[in-house]
Amino acid sequence: MKILVINAGSSSLKYQLIDMETESVMAKGLCERIGIDGHLKHTPLVEGKTVFDEDVAMPTHSEAIAAVIDKLTSPQYGVVNSMKEIDAVGHRVVHGGEKFASSVLINDEVMKAIEECTPFAPLHNPANITGINACRAVMGKVPMVAVFDTAFHQTMPGKAYMYALPYQYYLSNGVRRYGFHGTSHRYVSARCAELMGKPIEELKIVTCHMGNGSSLAAIDHGKCVDTSMGFTPLVGLPMGTRCGDLDAGVIQFLMNKYGYGIDEMLNILNKKSGVLGVSGVSSDFRDLDKAAAEGNERAQLALDMFHYWVAKVAGSYVAAMNGVDAIVFTAGVGENSKATRAAIASYFGYLGVKIDDAANSKRGEDVMISTPDSKVKVFVIPTNEELVIARDTRDIVG
Ligand code: ADP
Repeated sequence: MKILVINAGSSSLKYQLIDMETESVMAKGLCERIGIDGHLKHTPLVEGKTVFDEDVAMPTHSEAIAAVIDKLTSPQYGVVNSMKEIDAVGHRVVHGGEKFASSVLINDEVMKAIEECTPFAPLHNPANITGINACRAVMGKVPMVAVFDTAFHQTMPGKAYMYALPYQYYLSNGVRRYGFHGTSHRYVSARCAELMGKPIEELKIVTCHMGNGSSLAAIDHGKCVDTSMGFTPLVGLPMGTRCGDLDAGVIQFLMNKYGYGIDEMLNILNKKSGVLGVSGVSSDFRDLDKAAAEGNERAQLALDMFHYWVAKVAGSYVAAMNGVDAIVFTAGVGENSKATRAAIASYFGYLGVKIDDAANSKRGEDVMISTPDSKVKVFVIPTNEELVIARDTRDIVG
């Protein structure tokens, strides 16, 4: 079975074609500047085929999907002979609200329900919907599955997902914590259990997804019981450019002081804050590491804040689960920054965590970075959201 995985943004579309016999990626690529002019980078991962990296006119997502299919099936760049060899399509959808606690076969009713979740993710869900509609138009009756970023967190209990606001806002408007990065938290927690050789139902795991956006999740016996992002991805840890947890009174204070409108204020909180805002240097942790090493104190402060917050939230999850067996680092920063992992782990002495420096220096693979006698195991597990989407699609399409 071959499954096409699609992650559609408002002006971009990422894809992978995965052969489920071997769970290997046959080709991957990225369409950019959809609706502006259009560019496709298509990388076949089988021998004898060429990379395609050129401008292609993409007035809408339909032309983008058509270009992807064209390249996947082309004699020079392709990896299959015709579209008929693509058995199903799995789509990443950001927000499934309370309607979707798991992945689902797409039909008209499901599309309506995804649209109803749009107010919760006004930037992301419309792009996901456009991608699905374009795919349905170009690929006809090929079965398609939606996999939601929020779904894995739907097992959280009310005490974790409720905000202490008047109850009517939850009841009438669905205002609650939803959480994001669910597909990643799900993948790395399952993989962690595999690596430990134990059923996930016997483990307490804290997963730390640390990329441009970052979130932690508490996974108690296989079920997510808490996560740090909320109604939107703005809260929890300080991130690349997002502020993380913030006293709402600060918003009122700054709006009054500087005459900001709410859109301008939210733009500051989403795009100009986080480690970028504190350091004034960059949202990229590589730049911060470099600046801090050169003596930039604000870059060091931003890094210290990030480490502190990850450790603090992880500690709260240890309390929530009454213990922890494993802590997992993943995503751009978690997978690549040895120094970040070591700095965060230095807070875990009370858990009996010991880090093996040689193991912590490895890159690009699943690795246990704690010593054999560490009381709590610590892992680096490269995330693979596309594989989860492909597996769910296979399981649902049968
Ligand atoms: P996104 O949230 O956009 O999916 P990623 O998970 O790809 O982000 O993470 C991107 C971030 O990973 C970059 O902004 C950068 O800060 C960080 N990163 C990548 N490589 C390294 C590295 N070697 N050291 C430190 N940080 C890194």
